[in-house]
Amino acid sequence: MQKLPPFPCDSCGQCCRRVNYSEKTAYLDRGDGVCCNFDDKTNLCLNYDTRPLICRVEDYYHQKLSHVYQWEEFVRLNLEICEQFKQDK
Ligand code: SF4
Repeated sequence: MQKLPPFPCDSCGQCCRRVNYSEKTAYLDRGDGVCCNFDDKTNLCLNYDTRPLICRVEDYYHQKLSHVYQWEEFVRLNLEICEQFKQDK
């Protein structure tokens, strides 16, 4: 498997606060749209080492989307969503 540059996550926690937005992550919703594994105090995942595949950006890309997008394009599209979430908060 090709080693990719890491996704430039700044740990803003905005995606973890919107798991209700996607049918793939809705099962993680603790009831207010926020993931049941999200730590509000630290803004980090309490289950980081065993988080679901969809939360592991590089692994998810390799398994599900590498035939659809180049990594750079996938990163760019995701960063656009990150920015949108930050503006909406
Ligand atoms: S499992 Fe962890 S990384 Fe995934 S949405 Fe929840 S808090 Fe975020």
